[in-house]
Amino acid sequence: MKKHNFNAGPAILPPSVFREASAAVLDFAGGLSILEISHRSTEFTKVLDETTALIRELLNLPEYYEVLYLSGGASTQFFMTAMNLLDADARACYIDTGSWSAKAIKEAKAFGRVEVVGSSKEDGYSYIPKDIQIPTDAAYLHITSNNTIFGTQFHQLPETSVPIVADMSSDILSRPIDINRYGLIYAGAQKNLGPAGVTLVVVNKEMLGKVSRTIPSMLDYRIHISKQSTYNTPPVFPIYVMMLNLRWLKENGGLKAVDKRNKEKAAILYSEIDANPLFKGVVTEAADRSLMNVTFRLEREELTADFLKACATAGCVGVKGHRSVGGFRASIYNAMEKSSVEVLIGVMQEFSKQRG
Ligand code: PMP
Repeated sequence: MKKHNFNAGPAILPPSVFREASAAVLDFAGGLSILEISHRSTEFTKVLDETTALIRELLNLPEYYEVLYLSGGASTQFFMTAMNLLDADARACYIDTGSWSAKAIKEAKAFGRVEVVGSSKEDGYSYIPKDIQIPTDAAYLHITSNNTIFGTQFHQLPETSVPIVADMSSDILSRPIDINRYGLIYAGAQKNLGPAGVTLVVVNKEMLGKVSRTIPSMLDYRIHISKQSTYNTPPVFPIYVMMLNLRWLKENGGLKAVDKRNKEKAAILYSEIDANPLFKGVVTEAADRSLMNVTFRLEREELTADFLKACATAGCVGVKGHRSVGGFRASIYNAMEKSSVEVLIGVMQEFSKQRG
């Protein structure tokens, strides 16, 4: 039976990417597997170059932005950003929109003054705080552009001239962005980019070299820039799969086209949640709903396990909500087909006919 993969991450990738990746495991470079070639080989250098060219093109990067492929997940970026960008006596502003923001805040506190300028914590992170005053002397403003667990997303950036540092782990390359507003963006690959194991960092070079502390080489963006992400062995295979996925994204019309498809998918699913008397959305402000992670619950929560069974019977996997929120979460990243969202909607409608 066809599986419709609604997992939050690691998550769905296009079937063509899986096919091409598996072929490269068997034979990538004249009888050698992608898994056994040097990260300094001509073949892999070409992969790195093409991946970077695709990122540059898709995000429309000016030349003073650098693209890095690092290890350690987005969680390492929680402290690496602050270590590289926040001096001990400087301040950075953070907006707390969920568990991942809270972790970024906690980690940054080790390096400088951290000011939480907005938070929806008291209301269960059910909306995105608005009208936030951001001091102009802040080194940066950190946001989590999409909150994977609670299902909220920034659809408008806060008004500020301060460079934004964004954790885009769960909505990177899902829509066009104005890169000039960002000093740095980072994303663990395992949602919209590729497999787990590589973290993408895009940084405006002008942000770097301004802190006085000593930074260990592996945690210094400037070292990785000077070595084009091969200061140490980068995650070769995840980068290769990311390249295949970026090719797919470009062939399918790039960010404008994927944004349109993502909006259509989210719209039909949220319409069903709103129209179906058995279900309700988790996010209180409809304008802040995520286009990537759609969170919802049953009016009668005691039916939760039964609904998950109905999903599984239809091949819909990964629909269970995060343990801290409960209910359901349908992650509908770039590679998710509208037809799979329609299958889930069908399950909701049938469930409502039988149990409503
Ligand atoms: N930020 C966000 C928004 C996430 O969704 C996640 C993972 N789900 C993380 C950070 C942590 O990423 P990693 O596991 O790659 O460290």
